[in-house]
Amino acid sequence: MRKPFVAGNWKMNTDSQSSVTLARGVAEGSVESAGRNVDVAVCPPFVYLQSVARAVSSSSVAVGAQDVYFEKKGAFTGEVSAAMLKEIGCTYALCGHSERRHVLGETDELVNKKVTAAIAGGLLPILCVGELQSQRESGRTEEVVTRHVTKGLAGLSGAKVSAVTVAYEPVWAIGTGLTATPAQAQEVHALIRKLLGDLYDNETAEATRILYGGSVKPDNAAELMSQRDIDGVLVGGASLKVEDFLGIIQAAV
Ligand code: PEP
Repeated sequence: MRKPFVAGNWKMNTDSQSSVTLARGVAEGSVESAGRNVDVAVCPPFVYLQSVARAVSSSSVAVGAQDVYFEKKGAFTGEVSAAMLKEIGCTYALCGHSERRHVLGETDELVNKKVTAAIAGGLLPILCVGELQSQRESGRTEEVVTRHVTKGLAGLSGAKVSAVTVAYEPVWAIGTGLTATPAQAQEVHALIRKLLGDLYDNETAEATRILYGGSVKPDNAAELMSQRDIDGVLVGGASLKVEDFLGIIQAAV
């Protein structure tokens, strides 16, 4: 039985004060549900990770980074290693978010290095995959998602893959207010689970959590998460409002 997982991606939002206020609100409001019935994480901007980690430290809300670099240390100006993130209290790291793939030009090969380095550094990667609108319209969803998953996990053993959460985020649904229908999302989630079975084995496929992301709100979260292969959600915009994010967590319980 896969435990539901709700993660909030704050992107490049909040400031030093509002990040802590938001984190406290999530920690206090999810006291009943977080940990026991559902795993909850927030992913603030790098500069607020430490203060947010402190703000949620007495709760079961975990903290994730929005990215991680694959090298351990050295002359990589502006980058942050897995060990650095682990040291300040991160549990998770997003890898290959669509904004990093499409705005910042990350390739599948780079994403794979980040997933591999995150695991080696003791973090739990959330591998983000998903097709563009034009790719869906030209019938290439399966091909794109298969490539993102296969290349993103390349070289990892089944044991290592157990640290990974996959997040299916159709790019056309991110921040647009357009949500995949539960049936559309379930179709791709089932495909990803089957692929994990083909790449590894049935046990790995059944144990791996696959989140949906793309304009998730309190009023559509429950129906999405009622689908067999949707194990939780990765939330952008709605994770910036305590009430909305708590509503989504409630929908996962
Ligand atoms: C995201 O950033 O991963 C995301 C799904 O954003 P939104 O919920 O705003 O569509």
